[in-house]
Amino acid sequence: MPGSGEEEKRGKNPENLQNPRNLRLHLDMEKCMRCGACVAVCPVDGALILHTTYLEIVHEKCVRCGQCVTVCPMGALSLQSDRP
Ligand code: SF4
Ligand code: SF4
Repeated sequence: MPGSGEEEKRGKNPENLQNPRNLRLHLDMEKCMRCGACVAVCPVDGALILHTTYLEIVHEKCVRCGQCVTVCPMGALSLQSDRP
């Protein structure tokens, strides 16, 4: 898949450790109770999609503002370096 190959390439770039643009939103699905608070606070339409059984992060739309991380009552979201 082209997507996974590109992701792997970026992950090996050492600049990713210093560049906030290369942070990536991470979800711990075991902690998420699908309350929707993150979706409500997100300023970008479509960056988070609440499905019946899981929360989807649309990484192409996420601007890594961290607001969802702040409001999540379960600590399920975090911004992490985009590394393998
Ligand atoms: S705010 Fe946290 S617990 Fe609620 S849906 Fe979002 S990630 Fe899941
Ligand atoms: S980091 Fe910001 S843009 Fe990305 S999903 Fe969370 S609230 Fe939305």
